[in-house]
Amino acid sequence: MKLLEAIVEANQRAAAGDPAASVRIADHAGALPVVALTCIDPRLNRLIPAALGIPDEDFIWLRNAGNIITGPLTSTLRSLALACAVKGGREIVILGHSDCQIQRLSALELAAAFQSMGLDCTRMPDGLADYFGLFASERQNVTRAAAFVRSSPLVAPHIPVHGLMIDIESGRLEWIVNGYQAAPEPKTAALASPADLEMAAPNPLPPVLAPLSLDAKVGDPAFGVEAWIARERAANTTPSPPVIPRPPPVIPKPSLRTGKLDTA
Ligand SMILES: [Zn+2]
Repeated sequence: MKLLEAIVEANQRAAAGDPAASVRIADHAGALPVVALTCIDPRLNRLIPAALGIPDEDFIWLRNAGNIITGPLTSTLRSLALACAVKGGREIVILGHSDCQIQRLSALELAAAFQSMGLDCTRMPDGLADYFGLFASERQNVTRAAAFVRSSPLVAPHIPVHGLMIDIESGRLEWIVNGYQAAPEPKTAALASPADLEMAAPNPLPPVLAPLSLDAKVGDPAFGVEAWIARERAANTTPSPPVIPRPPPVIPKPSLRTGKLDTA
């Protein structure tokens, strides 16, 4: 059993009342450190380290409002990528939680909140819901974030990318995406070729273990990796700038007077 599988199983046994449920994290040194993206909700400050049980020194923790990722090359993905490339992260977990306030927020409510702070929404980007990545389903949000990480050219294919949900009341973990099922064994070649870094063909998306939440407001065509790729392709089909002819290169000629090359 691999690290995250062992953690989730022990967590669920503990939640069911088994006092002996535990994981020997040291048995999984090859999976450490673990990199996690979670929400800014302060209720998670103690809950998540306790639920995962990974020692501080092996736990790299990123947080943003709603554990949202809006594309495979965003600022959050840069941090996840560097956590792996520079700090040696071996596995990535997108960790959503129940009762997320971001999930409850509509674009109108957000605009009203900004206006109540004296902010001028007309100076903000169009489409606040898209800009802030507001989501209707916590589970679907985790699935989408994990898919963006999995498809990112910044993250090596052999790094498992998981999606989990945590119950904010009980601390019980639940699988959304098991990244072990999508990650190939590590390559022996150290570096990807430039062709591997091409954006055109994203990696296969990880399987979703849990069905999407029935309360999801599915049907938003702007939601998901496919929609992002379509938008990027549309944005990249703008005509290229006109080609300006360059003057022919100056070829030095021998000077009639000296017989030497005259490069003036
Ligand atoms: Zn939250």
